[in-house]
Amino acid sequence: MTRQKTLRTCKAGHRYYKSSDCNTCPVCEASAKQNNSWCAGLSAPARRALEGAGIDSVKKLSMFTKAEILALHGLGPSSVPKLHAILAANGQSFRDSKR
Ligand SMILES: [Zn+2]
Repeated sequence: MTRQKTLRTCKAGHRYYKSSDCNTCPVCEASAKQNNSWCAGLSAPARRALEGAGIDSVKKLSMFTKAEILALHGLGPSSVPKLHAILAANGQSFRDSKR
């Protein structure tokens, strides 16, 4: 059994052939991985602030308190709800500053 490969265009305008029902664009997928997909929802300055502090994963983010994260240059209070959501989605949270 062979399935016809069809030409598709993703939201970003990449054109690719796929035969499966999966609509994932390989170009977007690859660039998302390169751009640290774990924090893809954040603004560019916020991502740079995290990278500058060596935070490149949810696990590392969970080792910081909210106050420490807010002290990073370029990371404003508007990013905190997004970080909370990222942490919660991975079963993590900010480090408790009281401990
Ligand atoms: Zn794409």
